[in-house]
Amino acid sequence: MKLNPFKRHRCHDCNLRFRRIEELMQHNQLAHCDKSGYECRHCKKFFEGMEQMRRHIKQVHSYQGNNSSPNH
Ligand SMILES: [Zn+2]
Ligand SMILES: [Zn+2]
Repeated sequence: MKLNPFKRHRCHDCNLRFRRIEELMQHNQLAHCDKSGYECRHCKKFFEGMEQMRRHIKQVHSYQGNNSSPNH
Protein backbone atom coordinates (compact mmCIF):
# COMPACT_ATOMS: atom_id res chain seq x y z
CA MET A 1 0.00 0.00 0.00
CA LYS A 2 1.57 3.23 -1.17
CA LEU A 3 0.72 6.42 0.64
CA ASN A 4 1.12 9.82 -0.85
CA PRO A 5 3.51 11.63 1.50
CA PHE A 6 2.25 14.99 0.32
CA LYS A 7 -1.32 14.26 1.27
CA ARG A 8 -1.00 12.68 4.66
CA HIS A 9 -3.72 14.56 6.45
CA ARG A 10 -6.98 12.71 5.94
CA CYS A 11 -10.42 13.86 6.90
CA HIS A 12 -12.03 11.20 9.06
CA ASP A 13 -15.49 12.10 7.85
CA CYS A 14 -15.19 12.08 4.08
CA ASN A 15 -11.70 10.62 3.48
CA LEU A 16 -10.50 13.67 1.61
CA ARG A 17 -6.76 14.16 1.84
CA PHE A 18 -4.84 17.37 2.37
CA ARG A 19 -1.21 18.37 2.18
CA ARG A 20 -1.31 20.75 5.09
CA ILE A 21 -2.98 20.31 8.45
CA GLU A 22 -4.31 23.84 8.11
CA GLU A 23 -6.19 22.85 4.99
CA LEU A 24 -7.70 19.88 6.78
CA MET A 25 -8.70 22.02 9.73
CA GLN A 26 -10.29 24.59 7.45
CA HIS A 27 -12.08 21.85 5.53
CA ASN A 28 -13.32 20.36 8.80
CA GLN A 29 -14.76 23.63 9.94
CA LEU A 30 -16.32 24.46 6.59
CA ALA A 31 -17.63 21.05 5.62
CA HIS A 32 -18.34 19.43 8.96
CA CYS A 33 -18.70 22.38 11.32
CA ASP A 34 -17.42 21.49 14.74
CA LYS A 35 -18.02 17.79 14.29
CA SER A 36 -15.19 15.51 15.40
CA GLY A 37 -12.90 18.37 16.19
CA TYR A 38 -11.61 20.34 19.11
CA GLU A 39 -10.94 24.04 19.20
CA CYS A 40 -8.44 25.65 21.52
CA ARG A 41 -10.38 28.16 23.58
CA HIS A 42 -7.26 30.28 23.95
CA CYS A 43 -6.23 30.82 20.33
CA LYS A 44 -9.05 29.16 18.34
CA LYS A 45 -6.68 26.63 16.82
CA PHE A 46 -8.39 23.51 15.57
CA PHE A 47 -7.39 19.96 16.46
CA GLU A 48 -8.54 16.53 15.38
CA GLY A 49 -8.30 14.97 18.79
CA MET A 50 -8.80 16.08 22.34
CA GLU A 51 -5.38 14.78 23.37
CA GLN A 52 -3.70 16.89 20.70
CA MET A 53 -5.57 19.94 21.87
CA ARG A 54 -4.75 19.29 25.52
CA ARG A 55 -1.08 18.82 24.66
CA HIS A 56 -1.14 22.06 22.68
CA ILE A 57 -2.69 23.95 25.59
CA LYS A 58 -0.12 22.49 27.96
CA GLN A 59 2.80 23.41 25.72
CA VAL A 60 1.65 26.74 24.33
CA HIS A 61 -0.59 28.16 27.00
CA SER A 62 0.88 26.39 30.05
CA TYR A 63 -2.56 26.13 31.62
CA GLN A 64 -2.69 29.85 32.24
CA GLY A 65 -5.86 30.84 33.99
CA ASN A 66 -6.14 27.48 35.67
CA ASN A 67 -6.39 28.78 39.18
CA SER A 68 -5.61 25.67 41.17
CA SER A 69 -4.14 27.36 44.20
CA PRO A 70 -6.10 26.42 47.30
CA ASN A 71 -7.60 29.02 49.53
CA HIS A 72 -4.84 29.19 52.07
ZN1 LIG B 1 -14.29 16.01 5.29
ZN1 LIG C 1 -4.13 27.53 21.66
